[in-house]
Amino acid sequence: MKLKGKTALVTGASRGIGRGIAEVLAEEGADVAVNYVANAQEAEETARRVRAQGRRAIVVKGDVARRADVEAMIDQSWKELGPLDILVNNAGIETIVPFLELTDEQWTRLVDVNLRGEWLCSQVFCGRVLDAGRKGSIVNIGSIQAGKILPGRTHYAPTKLGLEALTRNISAEMSPLGIRVNCVHPGLIDTDMTAWVMKRPDLLPGILAQISLGRPGEAREIGTVVAFFASEEASYLTGQSIHVDGGWVAK
Ligand code: NAP
Repeated sequence: MKLKGKTALVTGASRGIGRGIAEVLAEEGADVAVNYVANAQEAEETARRVRAQGRRAIVVKGDVARRADVEAMIDQSWKELGPLDILVNNAGIETIVPFLELTDEQWTRLVDVNLRGEWLCSQVFCGRVLDAGRKGSIVNIGSIQAGKILPGRTHYAPTKLGLEALTRNISAEMSPLGIRVNCVHPGLIDTDMTAWVMKRPDLLPGILAQISLGRPGEAREIGTVVAFFASEEASYLTGQSIHVDGGWVAK
């Protein structure tokens, strides 16, 4: 129980990697605020799984790209679950659009959610934690695309590389005050975001051949690393980014 007595907010926890993270944090002893933006029913299912571990869970609706929503969801979590110790910035979107066809609107929305959203949630979280005289931990969810080129991602990849810089820079300002900040870069994880790849026999074997472990990862395999970063076991780790990708980038 690495996180006994801790309270976490996981953004985008209604599905996929966020749900896997919420489940593992609960198994490690944390109460969890489950954020979502559209799928209330799925968020309730994640909360049910957290409660099944004997932990407390609430569901908080909010768009991570809107300051008012972020303030409201952190307020609600703090009121209903108590002071937050852990923020996992997981919410993200991916679209695949060739560079010459990408519109201003597509660029702006994706960068707003994937990069500004993580900055915004971190800023509001750190403000509350420090005002309360407490310490904390932030884990950002990036992507191997921070360092690997896949077609049609001229908007997505820069947000994930940007998260490394965001992680290092927030860490430099916040760690001296007691808030560690780290980043996990997932490889190919089986979720709704990648469901289309899993259904492509023409593409999937070629991708799996590049992954040393030869298989996609599971959301919980991201969750276990997040739980470690968030725990006291990682007390001397901050400003770091790690690939959890079955050896894809290393190969
Ligand atoms: P997913 O299955 O598509 O789930 C996305 C989650 O983010 C959902 O819970 C969704 O909520 C939430 N979300 C989307 N926009 C939001 C917003 N504006 N505000 C709050 N929540 C929002 O995606 P995933 O595969 O789990 O990916 C999770 C994270 O891992 C993302 O940052 C993604 O870039 C990253 N990642 C994924 C992979 C992969 O292979 N799957 C690889 C590398 C990195 P609703 O259910 O309410 O829509």
